[in-house]
Amino acid sequence: MKILKERILRDGKCLQGGILKVDSFINHQMDPVLMEQMAREFATRFSGCGANKILTIEASGIAPAIMTGYIMKLPVVFIKKSVPATMDNMLVASVYSFTKKRSYDVCVSRDFLHTGDKVLFIDDFLANGNAAKGAAEIVERAGAELAGMGFIVEKAFQQGGKELRASGVKVESLAIIESLDDCKVVFRE
Ligand code: 5GP
Repeated sequence: MKILKERILRDGKCLQGGILKVDSFINHQMDPVLMEQMAREFATRFSGCGANKILTIEASGIAPAIMTGYIMKLPVVFIKKSVPATMDNMLVASVYSFTKKRSYDVCVSRDFLHTGDKVLFIDDFLANGNAAKGAAEIVERAGAELAGMGFIVEKAFQQGGKELRASGVKVESLAIIESLDDCKVVFRE
């Protein structure tokens, strides 16, 4: 998506270790106009996928997911990154965090994910795919089906995208980064 790639080049910052910082327009300060354009792009790419629900993971997936849900007129459920004491009847998966370098349990109430649901997962980044695999596990535990997975930024030099596509998931990423070597952003054409 051209406008997103231009914005990444203009306002994104590379950190050591293959990390792209987009916190001035995606995941700390947020640009709602860009967010709407990205949501429309997701809606186009996933039109006809048959999803009846959008799933994301807190916190930075919520903004693109709610905007996509608004455009596609679908309810949005977010996976919680801690298991609340007040929540029984839940679906749990373990996720390894690339940024925090540890595993943690994530969960969704069974009240909001059911057998027969067709789920579109939306998140900000796809790196090693751990968050996405945790989401897929929760969808499977619910007896629901994955309609597809959409990411704002995919880092193709990490393995998540390859693995998810090889497992048969329809993956759409709005900007695919081949390399962040020497803190230079190289996009896939
Ligand atoms: P994965 O589970 O695919 O390895 O990583 C996905 C999660 O890690 C994303 O939801 C995001 O929060 C975080 N993440 C991974 N790589 C980056 C990055 O380069 N920049 C930022 N800001 N977050 C990242």
